[in-house]
Amino acid sequence: MNVRRLSWNHFRNLRAGEFEPCAGVNVIYGQNAQGKTNLLEAMWLFTGERSFRGAKDAELVLQGETAAALRMDFWSEGRGQTAKITVAEGRRTAELNGIPKGACSALTGKFCAVVFSPEHLSLVRGGPSLRREFVDSALCQMKPGYASLLSGYNRTLFQRNALLKDIPRHAELMDTLEIWDERLSQFGERVIRQRTAYLKALSEPAAGFYAGISSNRETLSFVYRKSAEDLRRALAEERREDVLSGHTGAGPHRDDVDIFVSGLNARAYASQGQKRSVVLALKLAEAELLSRMTGEKPVVFLDDVMSELDARRQDYLLNHLTEFQVFLSCCEPGAARQMKSGALFRMEDGALSAVP
Ligand code: ATP
Ligand code: MG
Repeated sequence: MNVRRLSWNHFRNLRAGEFEPCAGVNVIYGQNAQGKTNLLEAMWLFTGERSFRGAKDAELVLQGETAAALRMDFWSEGRGQTAKITVAEGRRTAELNGIPKGACSALTGKFCAVVFSPEHLSLVRGGPSLRREFVDSALCQMKPGYASLLSGYNRTLFQRNALLKDIPRHAELMDTLEIWDERLSQFGERVIRQRTAYLKALSEPAAGFYAGISSNRETLSFVYRKSAEDLRRALAEERREDVLSGHTGAGPHRDDVDIFVSGLNARAYASQGQKRSVVLALKLAEAELLSRMTGEKPVVFLDDVMSELDARRQDYLLNHLTEFQVFLSCCEPGAARQMKSGALFRMEDGALSAVP
């Protein structure tokens, strides 16, 4: 999978332009606020997902204009394809190979990518919900039934919690709790099994990428930490506390993933550069698993990844990720000038130019 050509019109601060990236590493450099992230975001939108910055559609249109347009020629499923995105009146619509598709979500699965942006560092730094989300969103992409399994779990959890809040006023409802416990554990156990299997599959490529990034000096591993070994039993045992607190204390909505760098918990002990390397390895491993499933390597977007990384780690990203098409934004071209292969572009005030 790769981007052949991208053109834009009135997308954020990118007025009108186009570029043809190479199939390897593409470095986009420039000072702050010139449009580097905007360019990555423009390409990312062809995945059919929301902006990785959580932007509203209206924010994507150049101030003072009424519509933005993007066109991408890309190679996917063994052939060249063309997609177009229009943002107008607060809506994003898509066209694929000349056929209008309605909402952009219709592009899902056509153009696949993973993205690293500095906000993703909270995957290591932040609370458990972000790590659960990382696993869940990967599973939603890879396993067709997972999204409905997860929403089944969340619905049941919501109903059990509502019941817990009613029980103090209507003691007779206590009997119905058992039914909800059974339903919740059926959904919950399936969620846990899928998450555990995904992390098991992820661990080998993630450890491999981490070894590469750290020049084999450090190791990466992780384990899925369940809130209860046996969900059914835990729900029964914690009923009293659950009724008192009005919510369910055990289950996949409380689980976490413990990440270890060379045996130490990364959240508590890892350095800035190590945390960055962990998130990178996780994202690249996610790309690797996606490619094993679809048979195509997703495109890798690395926004502002270089800061806090030493020369060896930067070198790994610039010269060793040969199997992916990579788009990497940074402020200083630095080591990118000596890339073994790849292309260098400079972004200035929304205008992109190739650097020979
Ligand atoms: P940094 O190195 O600081 O991350 P960057 O090159 O990635 O910088 P971008 O985030 O791409 O910068 O943003 C570039 C500029 O685009 C910013 O000055 C921002 O105000 C501007 N911008 C964002 N959205 C719009 C819009 N809808 N219309 C006009 N300008 C916009
Ligand atoms: Mg940026």
